[in-house]
Amino acid sequence: MIPYGRQHLEEEEIAAVVAVLRSDYLTQGPKVNAFEQAVAAYCGAQFGVAVSNGTAALHLACLALGLTAGDYLWTSANTFVASANCGRYCGASIDFIDIDPQTRNLSIDYLSQKLQRAKLAGNLPKIIVVVHFAGVPCDIAAIKSLSQQYGFYIVEDAAHAMGSQVNSDTVGSCRYSDMTIFSFHPVKTITTAEGGLICCNDSQYAEKLRQLRSHGVSRSDQDFCQPSDGPWYYEQQDLGFNCRMTDIQAAIGLIQLTRLPVFIERRQQLVDRYNHLLAGLPLTLPRALIGVKPAWHLYVVELCGVDSNTFDRRVIYDAMVAKGIAVNVHYIPVHLQPYYQQLGFCRGDFPVAEAYYAQALTLPLYPDLTEQQQDYVVNALKELLL
Ligand SMILES: *Cc1c(COP(=O)(O)O)cnc(C)c1O
Repeated sequence: MIPYGRQHLEEEEIAAVVAVLRSDYLTQGPKVNAFEQAVAAYCGAQFGVAVSNGTAALHLACLALGLTAGDYLWTSANTFVASANCGRYCGASIDFIDIDPQTRNLSIDYLSQKLQRAKLAGNLPKIIVVVHFAGVPCDIAAIKSLSQQYGFYIVEDAAHAMGSQVNSDTVGSCRYSDMTIFSFHPVKTITTAEGGLICCNDSQYAEKLRQLRSHGVSRSDQDFCQPSDGPWYYEQQDLGFNCRMTDIQAAIGLIQLTRLPVFIERRQQLVDRYNHLLAGLPLTLPRALIGVKPAWHLYVVELCGVDSNTFDRRVIYDAMVAKGIAVNVHYIPVHLQPYYQQLGFCRGDFPVAEAYYAQALTLPLYPDLTEQQQDYVVNALKELLL
């Protein structure tokens, strides 16, 4: 079976894990510090805070920004459920933003109209989680100027976009956002097995995030609210969690980070090749805007014939799987999930995301995908479409 995504690891990662297992620190220790600094430096951010996974990164980001019951969090309708769930963990209400059919990212026009209405209704969002779908950066500068007008925080969900660039600014620099989160799940661009990280440029946010990932406990005496009882003293100042990354994971991540430029280059080659080989077929191929250099995470085509219902996505999906190609679908619009339906969302609420979803098909894309395998995928799809 050819999967839709897959990690690339070498003996170096295996040796790094073994070295940690022989060392004094298994969980959060020197490798976690080094990994945080390396990711922040790569992205051009001042601070990096590593956590147990991307979902925890989103949750802690929302908590550190003070999201609570009575607040609103908005995110793209075309994303993984975690981009919305983080708001629910904090007791906030969720709303969605319909997408731009070109980029499949949240639509700036839709957003600015929705903000206008929300201002009149008095229910402006506290946080907007901006997803860079498939690695294509969303227009974060435009969202920043809306945030200056309407006063919301921006959290970038860059689970797909490690290494993506806009006008030579790397995603994660937080030049136009409050925080950016990454995931290092094995299908993402680099992996630590499970893992996540938050980048930011505000030392108070970084401090808050570090506290929240470790039970809300502070161990530095200049932060204490009460007089210290002695050298053993620590203080729980907030209701935190255990969302720590282990040194085992960070050791993998440090080596994966050195491979990132090669991964991005290889993914770009494969995307260029797909674009070339699939041109002329009744498909909408992925596109990025001018000035944008995506680090491609997913390669999603839309099956749209001359009249849009020519191809049944289910038929094509099943036939590809039968040929040993594990295609996938990204994403079921989040508002269509039973959990969100029960909160009052309905089919038809975000029609562009729904129309996109009906025709979307994710083809295999990962550094070890060979050109032979890619030809096999392309030919299988061609046979079905022609
Ligand atoms: C993978 C992913 C997440 C969650 O990351 P985990 O590390 O799996 O918790 C969040 N948002 C998006 C868009 C993702 O693709």
